[in-house]
Amino acid sequence: MPAMILDGRVVARAMRSDTRQAAERVAMQRGRNPALAVLHPAGDAAARSYVRALARAAADVGITCRVVPLAAEATREHVLEQLVQLNHDPQIDGILVQTPLPADCDGAEVSRTIVATKDVDGISPWNAGELSHGRATLLPATPAGGMALLRHYQIPLVGRHAVVVGRSAVVGRPMALLLSHAHATVTLAHSRTTDLAALVRSADIVVSATGRAGIITGEMVRPGAVVVDFGINVLPDGTIVGDVDVAAVSAHAAAITPVPGGTGPMTTAVILQQVVDVAAGAA
Ligand code: NDP
Repeated sequence: MPAMILDGRVVARAMRSDTRQAAERVAMQRGRNPALAVLHPAGDAAARSYVRALARAAADVGITCRVVPLAAEATREHVLEQLVQLNHDPQIDGILVQTPLPADCDGAEVSRTIVATKDVDGISPWNAGELSHGRATLLPATPAGGMALLRHYQIPLVGRHAVVVGRSAVVGRPMALLLSHAHATVTLAHSRTTDLAALVRSADIVVSATGRAGIITGEMVRPGAVVVDFGINVLPDGTIVGDVDVAAVSAHAAAITPVPGGTGPMTTAVILQQVVDVAAGAA
C-alpha cells in the first residue's frame, strides 16, 4: 500500500483558522491586532518571496506584519539596533529574523539579542535552553510544525526509534529534543555519522533535515516507517524537492510528508500561532 500523505497544507489551514479566531479575541481585548516584525535581507530573492508570502498569511489571520528590510551591506550595529528597538516596541508582539543575514552579522549574536518573550521562532538561547528542559513555550517553528503534523495524524511516538538526520540549531537538534520529550527514543545523525544507511534502516520514524536531495533512499527506509522530510532543495531545472527519494520511499513507508506541501506550510502556521500566543499573554 502506498504511504499515507501527511498533508501540511490541510493541517496548516486548520491551524491558521484557529489562529484567526484567537487573533480576533486578542484584537477585541487589546484594541489592536497582534503584530509581527520581520527583519529581512532585502537583496535575497528567496527570502523576499518567503517574507511576502508570510506577510500575506499574517494579514489573512489578522496579524499586522511590519517588514523591516535590511541591505546586504547593513552593519552589525544597525541590525542589532533594529532588534533592540523592536524588543522595546509595545506595538510589536513577535520578532522574526529571516536569513541570510547581512555579511557583517553574526547569527549567534543576533539570536542572543532578540528578547526571549518575542522570539516567535524559538532561536534565542533562553528559549533553546527552555526547550532542552522540556518547558519552552516559544518553539523553533519548523520542528514544532513537524511535531504538530505527527500529532494531527496520530502517529505513535512513545517508545519508537526516531532517527533525525541533521543537527542544526533550528531544525534537526530541536526536532530531536521534541521527539525525545514525546517519549520517542532518538538518535541524532549528521555528516560524520558512520553507516547512515544502517542507522536509518533501524528507525520507526525517519526525519531528514540536511538540504541534500535524495540522501534518504528507498533501501534506507524500512517498510512501515514514518518519514518526515524537512529538506527544501531546488534542482537545476527549478523543481523543489526534499531530502527523501519520494518515489522509492512512498512504495513501502507507512506515511510521508510531501515536498512541497508537507513541513513547509506548517512552519508559517506555527510562527503565526506563536505571535498570537504572545499577544494573548499565553506564551
Ligand atoms: P544546515 O545546513 O544548517 O544543517 C544541515 C545538517 O545536515 C547538518 O547537521 C549536517 O551535518 C547534516 N548533513 C549534511 N550532509 C549530510 C550527510 N551527507 N549525511 C548526514 N548529515 C548531513 O541546514 P538547516 O537545518 O538549516 O536546514 C536543513 C534543511 O531544511 C534545508 O533543506 C532547509 O532548506 C530546510 N528547511 C526547511 C524548513 C521548512 O519549513 N520545511 C525551514 C528551515 C529549513 P553537520 O552538522 O555534521 O554539518
